[in-house]
Parts: sequence; C-alpha cells; structure tokens
Amino acid sequence: MGSKCWLASVEKTADLTRGGNPVCPSCLSIMAQVEDKWPENITGRFFVDEQCIDCDLCRELAPDFFRRNDEQGYSYVYNQPESPEDIGDCQEALESCPVEAIGDLKEE
Ligand code: SF4
Repeated sequence: MGSKCWLASVEKTADLTRGGNPVCPSCLSIMAQVEDKWPENITGRFFVDEQCIDCDLCRELAPDFFRRNDEQGYSYVYNQPESPEDIGDCQEALESCPVEAIGDLKEE
C-alpha cells in the first residue's frame, strides 16, 4: 500500500532510458542514480539522489535511516539498515518515493 512503483525495487536493468538514464518500466520515472547521490549519504546500500523534492515521506516511513538537510531541503541516508525489518522499512521508503530519488545498490 502506498507503493507507487514496486518495479523500481526489483527491476534495475530497465531497457528504457531517458537522457541516457535508466527509466522505471512501470512509471517511466528516471531511477535513482548513484553518481547523483547527495554527499551526506552514508556509504552503503541505500542512497538518495538529487531528484529528491523534500516531500518528507521517507523520513516518516523510516526515520532511523533518512534525515533532512534543513539548509538545502532534501533527504539523505544517515544510517544504513542491517536487520531484515529495517531493510524492509527502507525498501518501503524507496518504493513510496514519488520521484524515484532513493536508490538500492543491492543488485549491483
Ligand atoms: S520520499 Fe523521495 S522525494 Fe520524498 S523526501 Fe524522501 S527521497 Fe525525497
């Protein structure tokens, strides 16, 4: 529920592209790009990139992992999940992000 784009979490090799970037085959949004991630992201599996529109959803769904840069107005990952439950919370945030700004490097 609340998942706009479930394919983003499982389909990392979309054939579709826009401007050279992979596009989600479900919603046609440009998927998060690791090269565009905010520098505050802590190293690890999940990250937020520059597409973030500061909607607050990830911070509500997984506050132990997503934090706001109050000066610039965007989210970043400040803590990486380890338990299956915590990973699930981050995956839910990824799937709920309205602009596909959250990336998951698990499949790479
Ligand atoms: S859900 Fe997406 S757009 Fe909203 S604050 Fe989080 S990363 Fe940014």
